[in-house]
Amino acid sequence: MSRCGVLGWPVRHSRSPAMHEAGYAALGLSDWRYQLLPVPPELLEETVRALPGTGFVGANVTIPHKEAALALADEATDSARAIGAANTLTFLPGGRIHADNTDAPGLIDALPSDPAGRTAVVLGAGGSARAVVWALVQAGADVQVWNRTPERARRLCSEIGGRAVQAPPAAADLLVNTTSVGLHGEDPFKALPLGVDAMDGYPCLVDLVYGSGPTALTSAAQAAGATVVDGLEVLVRQGARSFESWTGRAAPLEVLRTAARGEPAPTA
Ligand code: NAP
Repeated sequence: MSRCGVLGWPVRHSRSPAMHEAGYAALGLSDWRYQLLPVPPELLEETVRALPGTGFVGANVTIPHKEAALALADEATDSARAIGAANTLTFLPGGRIHADNTDAPGLIDALPSDPAGRTAVVLGAGGSARAVVWALVQAGADVQVWNRTPERARRLCSEIGGRAVQAPPAAADLLVNTTSVGLHGEDPFKALPLGVDAMDGYPCLVDLVYGSGPTALTSAAQAAGATVVDGLEVLVRQGARSFESWTGRAAPLEVLRTAARGEPAPTA
């Protein structure tokens, strides 16, 4: 049996098991399994090192383990090293652990068009912002980064690229929210430096935050006629990259999407 899972603490709300298991079923990968791996930080390394011995071929990594996962890996992609975090571990023959970051290419996959030569504004400078800024800068976008704590944005840009700004410009081709604002229903137009009509200046919005329905930011962008990419689509795209690297098969995207959104599997 080939086993995969998602390491996090807590991790019980992760949609990754449903998504990957649906993908295995759709491709007839009947001997593949994907499970939740709740692991506290102090047990991460010994747990990860034990996984290959019990049939694990890989593991996704989520909060709070992404930096520690990179640190414990025996080898890592240049992108994971530049971002400073890994969300995908692969267990190689001989027991070596390979670390990658599929959050960055997953973000680019989720965009409706190539960001090369486009202007982008990233709100936030936390863990997810590092992958987003790195991905957009590498793709050739002109990236400005705003964060509530300006020093953190300056540090991120000095390490990864982009320009830290005191206030987001009123217009850009792409707006990406990587802050956690909206996760608990906060009003983004109070917490973030955006007016209610700000969406007029941004023809495309990506909101990494996701929950059981649209966020206030995605609803406002939709109402303004913007193209909206929600957090679940970004989750699906990073998951699809991990799925492909472990199984060697093209991920059935529509199946992953349906499962991530908690909808019944298509019957046909
Ligand atoms: P993080 O490292 O804790 O960073 C949080 C960010 O949000 C920081 O920039 C922080 O600013 C900002 N922030 C928090 N509260 C704020 C407020 N009231 N007003 C303004 N800014 C505020 O978190 P993360 O790992 O980057 O995750 C951020 C969000 O993205 C979460 O909701 C997470 O669920 C989501 N996410 C989604 C995906 C996906 O696949 N869709 C992937 C990763 C993360 P300060 O620096 O000033 O504190």
